[in-house]
Amino acid sequence: MKTLWIDFLNLFFPDCCASCQGILLSGEKKICTTCRANLPFTHFHKLNPQENLVCQKFYGKMPVRFGLAFFKFTKSGKVQRLLHLIKYQNKPELAQILGEWYSSELANSNLNTAFDVIVPVPLHPKKLKIRGYNQSEYFGKGLAKYLQSNFAPSALIRNIATETQTKKSRWERWENVAQVFEVQKPEIIQNKHILLVDDVITTGATLEACGKALLKAEALSVSVAAIAMA
Ligand SMILES: [Zn+2]
Repeated sequence: MKTLWIDFLNLFFPDCCASCQGILLSGEKKICTTCRANLPFTHFHKLNPQENLVCQKFYGKMPVRFGLAFFKFTKSGKVQRLLHLIKYQNKPELAQILGEWYSSELANSNLNTAFDVIVPVPLHPKKLKIRGYNQSEYFGKGLAKYLQSNFAPSALIRNIATETQTKKSRWERWENVAQVFEVQKPEIIQNKHILLVDDVITTGATLEACGKALLKAEALSVSVAAIAMA
């Protein structure tokens, strides 16, 4: 009931922190200063690949040059709330703001010029129709803001409908996902360092399928970035 009431208030008083729902001070953009200091950052961009959980996830499956996730995902935490707003509460601009924030962090690291092209994981057309936007695209657009990279939202496409995944075996699921992605504009990808972008990293199967499609289209390397890693 309390959350419902807060959601109701947010409709009329949108100047609340998306993370803690506290009132935003002037100059604070969507997320308050306290949350900006205390959200569970991974700092993966400062770790070497042996300590980096994103790189470890793809080890032996696909070569990943840099593995990035802005936050650690914890159930019923603030990051889950942010992702819920982004995916189900029609707040794609929040994904873009997180992307811009992460972009400014990365631009101040040695990854400033590491990526030539930023490519979001395409959403299933059915989902896109229901949701009206691809949250990964908004995050990727934000990421491109301070990095020396081009943003290519339509470089990858989903080319066949995926059936419901839940009743399939792990192998069938992987096989199913693997055929889905195709590089639509190989000239943008060829001989380039690609930063592939998704909202959350869970099993990594979708990112792996996209990454393999990019490598098949002669990308020089694939790196991976997400808002959060589960
Ligand atoms: Zn806050």
